[in-house]
Amino acid sequence: MTTISCDVLIIGGGIAGLSLAAELAGRVRVVLAEAEPTLGYHTSGRSARQLVPSYGPPAIQQLTVRTLDLLHRRQSEAGLRVLSHRSFLLIGSKAAVKEHASGQMEFIGPDDALELSPELRPGAFEAAGLDRTSFGCRTDVLLQHHQDTARAAGARFLTGARVESARRHGSGWRVVAGGETVDAGTVVNAAGAWAEQVAALFGAQPQGLVPYRRTAAVVDVARPLSPRQPMVAAADDSFYYRPENGQVLVSPSETVPSEPEDARPRDTDVQRAIAHVSRSTTLTITGVAMAWTGLRTEPADGHPVVGFDPEVEGFFWLAGQGGYGFQTSAGIAELAAGLILGEHDGAGDVPAALSPHRRTFTR
Ligand SMILES: Cc1cc2nc3c(=O)[nH]c(=O)nc-3n(C[C@H](O)[C@H](O)[C@H](O)COP(=O)(O)OP(=O)(O)OC[C@H]3O[C@@H](n4cnc5c(N)ncnc54)[C@H](O)[C@@H]3O)c2cc1C
Repeated sequence: MTTISCDVLIIGGGIAGLSLAAELAGRVRVVLAEAEPTLGYHTSGRSARQLVPSYGPPAIQQLTVRTLDLLHRRQSEAGLRVLSHRSFLLIGSKAAVKEHASGQMEFIGPDDALELSPELRPGAFEAAGLDRTSFGCRTDVLLQHHQDTARAAGARFLTGARVESARRHGSGWRVVAGGETVDAGTVVNAAGAWAEQVAALFGAQPQGLVPYRRTAAVVDVARPLSPRQPMVAAADDSFYYRPENGQVLVSPSETVPSEPEDARPRDTDVQRAIAHVSRSTTLTITGVAMAWTGLRTEPADGHPVVGFDPEVEGFFWLAGQGGYGFQTSAGIAELAAGLILGEHDGAGDVPAALSPHRRTFTR
């Protein structure tokens, strides 16, 4: 068996690993190892596919705006068709909406909210915020685009290749992944819910990353929503829903800690989403077409962990994207590539907020 040599080995074939592979390929030799037989199988194949610039803390909002900017540019230059306009409507008590509304979000009156989403029950909310700069995203097309871009630029993909062991070798790492041996100068930990386990293989200290369950379901409704209607979310994080090709995507927005695993939906979570949506709208839900659960992994401060490990040489963190993995993907890949290639010194508000030097352990 031959040893594969590369400059950067990326562990994990979700949106984090794939967008970085596309960014680095052609500039350095890239290998990506994915444990599953297919790419994008875990959390990246299970999202709600919405990019909301007003969602999350300031560093996340900046990365989301940058990601939208980069994706819009690729849409016009490379013909990539991934974004479609879909605004985001936040509803709830005045205090809850005020607490969550920031950045691109504007306050609107309940009557304006009812005009945008006539299925809402008038008494079910007191206040509303609207983010008109939000977009729906064809995440499957985006994942494929990154894969094609990286491959065309010479990146190599190993699937069914779980990274099982690692040791220092010369000035880099020797890694065994699914029976292949890979020598790499830098290793990137983009292993999603498994990021702490992967870090342990390399002797890196934990970053306090916890996977949290989040379920979504596509339900049948008696009268479909218009595809142009916004995504609607409760400001108290009890549910969200949006149109989905004549059906409706609903979520109970649960945040329940989990082991890293191939998470499966629980009927109680799906029923809770249906109950919340039924209580707040006049939608008549007639059945559940499909349901799924993914793991949103994040540290206590809710910021991703992006940068070289402070103690372990050649080990780079690209983990903890929580519920923002798609909306920050292009911005984070750009930042990570700059740090890995030494073109970015890591200074600045956003890199500091994301740095692995800040280890967080309490929630
Ligand atoms: C219900 C739900 C709704 C969401 N909605 C949105 C949304 O609207 N907008 C948004 O921006 N984000 C959303 N998210 C969050 C987003 O999906 C995640 O942030 C993102 O997918 C995380 O990507 P990732 O690449 O870090 O992880 P993953 O996609 O999980 O990829 C990690 C990969 O690493 C692999 N791996 C693990 N260990 C090893 C190993 N030892 N060797 C090799 N490979 C390994 C795994 O097999 C996996 O494929 C949502 C998530 C959920 C669950």
